[in-house]
Amino acid sequence: MTDRFVTISVDDGHPTDLRTAELLGRYGIAATFYVPVTNPERAVLSKEQIREIGSRFEIGGHTLNHVVLKSLPQDRAWSEVREGKSWMEDALGAPIISFCYPRGKFDRQSILLVQKAGFLGARTCLMNLHQFPHNPFLWGVSTHACSHSRLIQVRHAMLERNFAGAYNFFQTYKGATDWEIQFLHALDHIEAHGGIAHLYLHSWEIDANGHWEKLEAVFRSIAERKSFSRVSNGALFELWNSRHDRNQQN
Ligand SMILES: [Zn+2]
Repeated sequence: MTDRFVTISVDDGHPTDLRTAELLGRYGIAATFYVPVTNPERAVLSKEQIREIGSRFEIGGHTLNHVVLKSLPQDRAWSEVREGKSWMEDALGAPIISFCYPRGKFDRQSILLVQKAGFLGARTCLMNLHQFPHNPFLWGVSTHACSHSRLIQVRHAMLERNFAGAYNFFQTYKGATDWEIQFLHALDHIEAHGGIAHLYLHSWEIDANGHWEKLEAVFRSIAERKSFSRVSNGALFELWNSRHDRNQQN
């Protein structure tokens, strides 16, 4: 049997996440919302609103103040990761197991701190990826719901040494620059061969680009594909860990 997964991640906890949550609910799609407690650049959901979304979807850690971890001294990076997690756990009364690096930026130290804080996995912004990774703290995505030119996609992949992503971009995703088309290539590929279709988005960006209808069309396409398991990021991190434990026991 082939495993076909589809997962959505929503970054930054902007108040327009309520609209995304409503849309996900309408199509029965699971997602993980990565929410910082404050964000110097944008508004963030209130504690009540986080609880509301958290009653229906997974909430993941995104640091306390939405800061780039790799630019911080170790003690500050640690308190950002750790306190962001404990604040959310207090607010929701449940463990937080998934993490996402703000701005997708990380280094060796950030990976170790996120692991030490007790997260099971961490999402990056490494794109054009749709397989289970070797390291769950370097979890990639297939698509960012914001169109990027070919030059930018290739340049990013090279800077991040994401060679598999660069290869997939042309091979599997047909060099598509429109994010909706690119993600539909991911769904088609995984429908045929298995893997993980992972779309990450910022609701504020969908709003700014006027892409709500485009997003709904993608959700509709997901809902129509019955062979996919619709899961949260955390469910995939748990699955990775359980497979890994099993391998170690054998
Ligand atoms: Zn962010």
